[in-house]
Amino acid sequence: MPWFAGVKREEIKWYPTIDPEKCVKCGMCMNCGKSVYDWTENGAVVARPHECVIGCTTCANLCLGNAISFPDLKELREFYKKNNIWSKVKKVLEEGGKLLIKK
Ligand code: SF4
Ligand code: SF4
Repeated sequence: MPWFAGVKREEIKWYPTIDPEKCVKCGMCMNCGKSVYDWTENGAVVARPHECVIGCTTCANLCLGNAISFPDLKELREFYKKNNIWSKVKKVLEEGGKLLIKK
């Protein structure tokens, strides 16, 4: 997965948090393609935070109760800058042939 580019996923603070006061148990977050959430008798819980795709906010955008939040994007961008992640990712993409122009 190019996003990691040598950085452990656990080091990157990007995952959802649910405010239980706002959650109306609509179930929309269970649509996450990475199975980050589990459904319980109290509604959704964040069971596998580090499976969350870095930078993704789809579940928060579609949450009926507006109950899902993420860490500050500014901090994430600072982390990327400090760890040179943009150029590392580009290198991985180039090596994987993902930046080849299709003819
Ligand atoms: S999408 Fe939001 S309101 Fe719906 S179950 Fe998940 S956290 Fe609760
Ligand atoms: S932000 Fe995206 S990957 Fe992360 S939990 Fe929500 S829908 Fe899943």
